Amino acid sequence: MHQYLSDRVKNLATSQTLAMAAKARELKSLGKDVIGLSLGEPDFNTPDFIKNAAKKAIDQNYNSYTPVDGYGDLKDAIITKFKRDNNLNYESSDIVVSTGAKQALYNIASVLINPGDEVILPCPYWVSYSDIIKLKGGIPVEIKTSIEDNFKMTGEQLLNSITEKTKMVWFSSPCNPSGSVYDKDELKEIVNVLDAHKNIFVISDEIYEHINYKGGHVSIGSFDKIKDRTITVNGVSKAFAMTGWRIGYIGAPHWIARACNKVQGQVTSGANCIAQRAVITALNENPDKIEYMVKEFESRRDLILDLLNNIPGFQCNVPDGAFYVFPDISHYFGKEIHGVKIKNASDMSMFLLEKALVATVTGDAFGNPNCIRISYAASKEKIIEAVERIKNLLV
Ligand code: PMP
Ligand code: GLU
Repeated sequence: MHQYLSDRVKNLATSQTLAMAAKARELKSLGKDVIGLSLGEPDFNTPDFIKNAAKKAIDQNYNSYTPVDGYGDLKDAIITKFKRDNNLNYESSDIVVSTGAKQALYNIASVLINPGDEVILPCPYWVSYSDIIKLKGGIPVEIKTSIEDNFKMTGEQLLNSITEKTKMVWFSSPCNPSGSVYDKDELKEIVNVLDAHKNIFVISDEIYEHINYKGGHVSIGSFDKIKDRTITVNGVSKAFAMTGWRIGYIGAPHWIARACNKVQGQVTSGANCIAQRAVITALNENPDKIEYMVKEFESRRDLILDLLNNIPGFQCNVPDGAFYVFPDISHYFGKEIHGVKIKNASDMSMFLLEKALVATVTGDAFGNPNCIRISYAASKEKIIEAVERIKNLLV
């Protein structure tokens, strides 16, 4: 690391999901037949009705800076979506559109975290949460969960993690990487704990909302007791297969949304204008329109679970949402396979990449060192071939 770089950047970890995807791409460019199951990225095309809206926007000469927090009619579409799908009531000034949910999360951390603030992260958590917290001088406080409790925190665990320095709780449901979905009763338990701690905020990352196989997504912000302290984060990357379009958004208490607007005004000036026009069309559609992708993900989930459960030493929970499996592979730790000692999940992930040419991500990146994450946002043929290669290598 170059000596002149800031300490902040020297201490920042590289995003492991993106690093693994880059490594897989590099091997592919060298002619290796790598199957990439590391990146959480739908393998579908963006639906035509959305692409057509973008083409129209170009022809209509949408080319100027947009309002920093997004076009007014996009914010209206988001307000309608929050009401329709999530029972959340927001006004225009509560909404901020950003360059992906990732920037939305970064904005929130920028406006709420002071150095020394503690942020509670149920593990496993999405890779970027802990590093964004650290970039802001905050302290991630992990709550360990395991496969037995379907990787979900309980109210009691939350209560035990709260200190006078706790600023917020930050989690995703459906969860990346475990696929766990909190139901209404489980959220109620969390809300009841937070009701007694009125200075703690909640970041609820709901980007996988529609990729939910048991149905009935519940937004924690819909509970009256906590709505004034919840920031609901969402985006179009996953549900609409629009990762590269880079649009995410939040619904938040007015003063938090305005502060995010201020930060964004100094950093990006707002999200891409054509993508914003296309997202109006996406959000105004009935979510049924993307059901075909969800059905396909569900059938791939069943397939990959069936296949992985046939590999000794792979222990999987049944994910109810998102498009990842998160097997516990600690059975292999300390063992030598084909002359390679597997000490931990990072070794396993690297071993699978180098010897089976299958890209996964180590669980360490998500705060769980016993697991690896495998994305099934890939064709069934690729999933079958990848698991076959893993099995042949390990068994
Ligand atoms: N949150 C979670 C849980 C994610 O998996 C992702 C992955 N991209 C993001 C946020 C960020 O999404 P984007 O920036 O593409 O909207
Ligand atoms: N969210 C995806 C993942 O977890 C995309 C990668 C990223 O944004 O870090 O793989």
